[in-house]
Amino acid sequence: MPQPSSELQAVASLQQITAGPGWINAVRFLDTRLDWLDRVHVSLTEIPAPTFLESARAEYMAQKFRDLGLQRVRVDAAGNVLAERPGADANFVLLAAHLDTVFPAGTPVKVQTVNGRFCAPGISDNGAGLAALVGIAAALQESKVATGLSLLFAATVGEEGEGDLCGMRRIFSQKELCRITKAVLVIDGASIQRTATAGLGSRRFRVEVRGPGGHSWSDFGRVNPVHALADAVTQLSRLPLPSRPRTTMNVGLIHGGSAVNVIPDSAWMKLDVRSTEACELQRLTGSIETIMRAAVEAENQRGDGKLEYRIVPIGDRPAAQLPADARILQIIRDVDQYFSVETRFETSSTDGNIPLSLGIETITTGGGGTGGDAHTANEWYDPQGRELGLKRILVATLMLAGITRSSGER
Ligand SMILES: [Zn+2]
Repeated sequence: MPQPSSELQAVASLQQITAGPGWINAVRFLDTRLDWLDRVHVSLTEIPAPTFLESARAEYMAQKFRDLGLQRVRVDAAGNVLAERPGADANFVLLAAHLDTVFPAGTPVKVQTVNGRFCAPGISDNGAGLAALVGIAAALQESKVATGLSLLFAATVGEEGEGDLCGMRRIFSQKELCRITKAVLVIDGASIQRTATAGLGSRRFRVEVRGPGGHSWSDFGRVNPVHALADAVTQLSRLPLPSRPRTTMNVGLIHGGSAVNVIPDSAWMKLDVRSTEACELQRLTGSIETIMRAAVEAENQRGDGKLEYRIVPIGDRPAAQLPADARILQIIRDVDQYFSVETRFETSSTDGNIPLSLGIETITTGGGGTGGDAHTANEWYDPQGRELGLKRILVATLMLAGITRSSGER
């Protein structure tokens, strides 16, 4: 009897994967070559990558993927770097890490090493995730493991702040890629003690108020956009918000006017609302509209002239969560048991929101080692224990993709 498919029958059990020669090669690599990965991590962190200005760092990642022998390495229309490692099956498991940082252009990003710790803005978020992507790709190449599903590596743009996940959105706006992506592992930061299985929803708005403006003395009595906006901020800050589902509101930026003796002709603010439930976001969006209308109407009644306002959405991250019986959840539980890792399942706002909201099994976790003070100038990363984080993601990837019987002979 011919058995044409037996060689390509993918196995996905943790025991079979970790018993194979490919896994032993991968582990040898991860246990001995991390000095190399530390250098890659430092190099990529020292390439500035503010949101919307990621192209230099993207080029570095593309070169690393090429050097490792990944295939079809390319930069897409959004600026994401994509690279493939073909398996027996054309469907994909996607491994992704975001390229961008919250730090504006011009922020010093030289990495200082203090007692074995690396210190620099973006070193952990998301230097650690990008380094993990490179480390996992390198270990896989070294292992010569052949996978069932193909692997797609993505270094994405626009994850932070007003990027509004534009890189991940672009990937999943392509129907075909959406159809053939069977699972997604997002690597963000260092910590393996936290794994996001639900995407925190958020909406962001820029609110603008405009009026005639004037002289503070001779035109006194005219409507004032700053006064109306301040009134709205006060009301917004007093909005009762539920703790379950956890829901938050923050006015993060406010600006208006041109001089102390001028009635401003405009003022604006940016605010962010977040919730684990989509319906709360919807309700809060309505409240913002109501409060703004009332604050502007009140100012128009008090003063001369007329204010106009506009609420412009500048971000919308969908809330979504993994079903309790998701296969990826069972896999990460098994992997964590194998490595004696204790991870807390949580809700967060990452690139993972997009595939999750499309019903694609997704988790977001750290790349290993430890880090802290993310989004501050004191951000740090300690590579000690990094190999555990990498092995954890690698074995989860192999379980999701399956390995073929011919592994180790590829
Ligand atoms: Zn991040």
